[in-house]
Amino acid sequence: MIELKSAAQLRLMRRAGLVVAEGLEAMTAAVAPGITTGEIDQIGRDVIAAHGATSNFLNYGEEYGIGFPGVACISVNDELVHGIPGDRVLAVGDMVSIDYGAIVEGWHADAARTVIVGEGTAEERELNHVTEEALWAGILAMRPGGRVGDVSKSIEKRIRQGSGHYGILREFTGHGIGSAMHMPPDVPNIRTFGRQVPLRLGMALAIEPMVTLGTHKTAELDDGWTIVSKDGSKGSHWENTAVLTERGIWVLTEFDGGESRLGERFGPLGD
Ligand code: MG
Repeated sequence: MIELKSAAQLRLMRRAGLVVAEGLEAMTAAVAPGITTGEIDQIGRDVIAAHGATSNFLNYGEEYGIGFPGVACISVNDELVHGIPGDRVLAVGDMVSIDYGAIVEGWHADAARTVIVGEGTAEERELNHVTEEALWAGILAMRPGGRVGDVSKSIEKRIRQGSGHYGILREFTGHGIGSAMHMPPDVPNIRTFGRQVPLRLGMALAIEPMVTLGTHKTAELDDGWTIVSKDGSKGSHWENTAVLTERGIWVLTEFDGGESRLGERFGPLGD
């Protein structure tokens, strides 16, 4: 079952989205040589606490034996997603993905940004740009009467337009979100065939392309969480929580709701 949200529920999700936007802004601003990923996670904790929100990442999965110990997944270089924040010290050249979420009154938001410590190489910068653009291409593919597959297809198409021979992660996908962080439907980052879930008003999707400079193949580290690329290539990961409203698209995890990127498709709900 796909959860369709009421206007009141979407406004609560927007509050969670603004906490996520603020936390990600503070954490990405702190990325610099010498800081540890654990210190960055603490910044995210402070933002959640300041708003009286709670974390949907902290203790995630504990029913399976290994609860996630941070409020953000911080994944560096060949770590693509689900990196555990801790003692790792960031250095110039590191490519750092920060994936972070919050809950307000039971409603969830989830987003990710990737930043490079220092300038990085031209190909790393392009990977990061293409991945961010692919996120927006996917968001712009959300239309009532369309299909989740339209989102996947748009993401893949934008990544293939990049000059690199990129790997697009397949085992990990975007997802529905709302009264839980991970809900149906899955939102793959490559085109899939077969029956496709229709896009409807009130649907909320966490769209999140995960792209590498090399292979799409991944492995899990012994910590039970961290996902790395099999060939050691670096990756980029961008994510937003976006909803379809009767007015258009509302990106809950951007301060401006997506207005600057969506043009006439921008459709927030009023108060
Ligand atoms: Mg997500």
